[in-house]
Amino acid sequence: MSGNRTFTMIKPDATASNNIGAILQKINEAGFRIIAMKYTRLSAESAGKFYAVHSERPFYKDLVNYMSSGTIVAAILEKDNAVASFRELIGATDPAKAAPGTIRALFAKSIEANAVHGSDSDENAQIEGNFFFSELERF
Ligand code: ATP
Ligand code: MG
Repeated sequence: MSGNRTFTMIKPDATASNNIGAILQKINEAGFRIIAMKYTRLSAESAGKFYAVHSERPFYKDLVNYMSSGTIVAAILEKDNAVASFRELIGATDPAKAAPGTIRALFAKSIEANAVHGSDSDENAQIEGNFFFSELERF
């Protein structure tokens, strides 16, 4: 059975270009409820930990630098089939390949600065939500 929660970040490119409100509106219009939300900034160390699964990839160092370069919004979202439904809403990693109307097609700048993160499994959604939010914040 698929779970009903996922985790997202609005990435530094999208906060810098004042698209937080527009992206949250898309998320709400798609039927997601915001369970927890935080405006914050990752240190390079924290960004490195968050993306540790990509540590062997050629883009890892740039990704860590980019994700710690500015403010982000982290949030836990709730909807039926949340992980798959949210990845459909955000579109492909590369905005040039993202379907029209998806968040990345609308707001992403490049394959790296691609506006939003979305968890890729129920297990990672829980791990990533726990990374940013304490038990008390995840009501
Ligand atoms: P995310 O995990 O952020 O939701 P994703 O699951 O679509 O994105 P991943 O393969 O998990 O894509 O890559 C994580 C992030 O690393 C991407 O969102 C992007 O910011 C960056 N990235 C991925 N591929 C590349 C690449 N070829 N060049 C530069 N950056 C990349
Ligand atoms: Mg991913």
